[in-house]
Amino acid sequence: MSPFDAIRGKVTARQVAESCGLKIGRNGMACCPFHNDRHPSMKIDTRFHCFGCGADGDAIDFISKYCGLSLKDAAIRICNDFGIAYDTGHYAPPARAKPAKTDTQVFKELEDYCYRVLSSYLRLLKRWEKEYDPRDADDEWHPYFCEALKEISHIEYLLDTLMYGDISDRASLIINCGKKVKDIERRFKLINPGNNRDDN
Ligand SMILES: [Zn+2]
Repeated sequence: MSPFDAIRGKVTARQVAESCGLKIGRNGMACCPFHNDRHPSMKIDTRFHCFGCGADGDAIDFISKYCGLSLKDAAIRICNDFGIAYDTGHYAPPARAKPAKTDTQVFKELEDYCYRVLSSYLRLLKRWEKEYDPRDADDEWHPYFCEALKEISHIEYLLDTLMYGDISDRASLIINCGKKVKDIERRFKLINPGNNRDDN
């Protein structure tokens, strides 16, 4: 924040004029310090204006003129006198928009996402295959076991494609299986809340 911004709306011309010892009447009129004024001809409130010499401005202008300071030094002086915090050392340039992702980056992210979800799913399927393995020939097959039998080789194939396929195979996998991957991810959250991350 600049000292100008810090002062804006906080300190009136009247306040700084009074701090300089200027006598201001109840009607807000004062003898103008900028010309030889015998009868009060300066109206002073938020800003000041002299009907005699035309001097005009705000608190910063007043101090600048009255003390012979640059506008910036006047502003700093007001900040100091009135205990206003400002920091000229931290000029923050306007935040720059993030550069748009390139197509390659988007593709890579989708690829990584598919790989993450599918490899988690594969591990889950392999666990189901063991855990729900029917003990006896008469046991009814658990749906998870059926799903494992049905899906494992397919998911392995998809993961192989993602790892070793050429770009067009990988791209068509992402396009064709995007919805399936999303559905799997959603199911993970239902089945294994908090355990759907795969950092491998
Ligand atoms: Zn004047």
